[in-house]
Amino acid sequence: MLNIILMGPPGAGKGTQAVTIADEFKIPHISTGDMFREAIANGTPVGLKAKAIIDAGGLVPDEVVCELVKERLSQKDCEHGYLLDGFPRTIPQAEALAEMGPSIGRPVSLVLNISVPSEVLLDRIAGRRVCPKCGASYHIRNMKPKVEGVCDRCGSKLIQRKDDNPESFKVRLENYFQSTEPLLAFYEKSGLLHSFDGNGNPKALHDAIASLLEANK
Ligand code: AMP
Repeated sequence: MLNIILMGPPGAGKGTQAVTIADEFKIPHISTGDMFREAIANGTPVGLKAKAIIDAGGLVPDEVVCELVKERLSQKDCEHGYLLDGFPRTIPQAEALAEMGPSIGRPVSLVLNISVPSEVLLDRIAGRRVCPKCGASYHIRNMKPKVEGVCDRCGSKLIQRKDDNPESFKVRLENYFQSTEPLLAFYEKSGLLHSFDGNGNPKALHDAIASLLEANK
């Protein structure tokens, strides 16, 4: 069963990998960041609560995120697997998932960690452009779309995320090291963790991840 968590610092390439892996293995890509951005665009109560925090690079409170994820993971399309991208990000979130996963019959089976040296992350974030519709990511130099400013997958106009600026990035990276990186030890202990080098080309990373998933289907 592919009940997967995808981890890594901001700019590691989680979104890029998640989109192709989810397509290929036919499992839903659940990005909590995308869910929040959608809630903000729709002006929902969760969106209103989260907007300022997200723009500044902060972390949305655990209860809010956990509630959202529990609701999402309980949906029918997660019955044959799921790919969580951006959750959990704190120890309390990981503990909540360790409880909710089995209770809804969907325990985590694999944790994939993409590791990338901190020095290269800011450049990846600063040059990142994303598709607000399908979640695909591009880079103005390293991973250009076929037509400038247009998503290859769905034809939507690409945007720059509001939190992809140096100030918010600094906060996001600090939060990553302080709150999220400790989860690697948590999952290492449970024997679920697999680490990948995310500093090479995205295709090579994709192939490495896909072969692990093939072996664990
Ligand atoms: P992402 O698209 O994963 O980079 O997420 C964008 C932003 O959404 C983050 O910087 C946080 O402000 C918020 N966010 C997404 N997932 C979580 C989470 N699991 N816990 C707390 N905040 C989150």
